[in-house]
Amino acid sequence: MVNLQGFTAILDEVSRTLLQMADAGIKGIDCSPESLDKLKAWGRGPGVISAGSTETLEDIRAHLGDCQRCKLCRSRTRIVFGVGNPQARLMFIGEGPGHEEDRAGEPFVGAAGQLLNRIIEAIRLNRQDVYIANVVKCRPPGNRLPEPEEIATCSPFLRRQIRAIRPLFICTLGSCAAQTLLNTPEAVSRLRGRFFDHEGTRVLPTFHPAYLLRNPEKKREVWEDMKLLMKEYPYEA
Ligand code: URA
Repeated sequence: MVNLQGFTAILDEVSRTLLQMADAGIKGIDCSPESLDKLKAWGRGPGVISAGSTETLEDIRAHLGDCQRCKLCRSRTRIVFGVGNPQARLMFIGEGPGHEEDRAGEPFVGAAGQLLNRIIEAIRLNRQDVYIANVVKCRPPGNRLPEPEEIATCSPFLRRQIRAIRPLFICTLGSCAAQTLLNTPEAVSRLRGRFFDHEGTRVLPTFHPAYLLRNPEKKREVWEDMKLLMKEYPYEA
């Protein structure tokens, strides 16, 4: 079933695809039997909202392929899809891969990742319990912020990952992830400290570990956020 939000997402996706095709110099739509077969094999496109996802993380990774959908593909070394438990109750979402992640193909393996590991341990979990992903799957050059166009192109894959995992909680790290998921321009400093809803998942925005490395006094607020999460997390179940 598709709701209004889902329908808007489909329209966004269709218009984005048509604009990308126009940018690529395509003047007509290819309805050849070969292309139609390919479309059938793709199944659901990114951004489609259904009551329950039947696609797996592997399906989504396969559809992403050797992604060339935005210009970040030109400078990346590896696509950083996501890592962790496909049935995680808690998902962490960052902004985009940095230098180390781009080389390793895994999110949060650099200095910010070490701090994220300590945060995960502090809430009595480990990296294998949770799932970790980013808003964009390729490194923005020079660690710049992902551009709106890049976020719009890549984030439907993140939304599909969330639907495949169906976590109870998502902890967004930094403004980019919170703004993307909650569709708001508010900064994380104004969003943190309370839960929001995203398609039935409770979303807790908090500061990004890289920001904490530069502003260690903010760790106290992240710890307050983690305590909120620990109160609700079903450790025993
Ligand atoms: N920062 C992020 O937002 N994501 C990573 O994977 C690493 C650093």
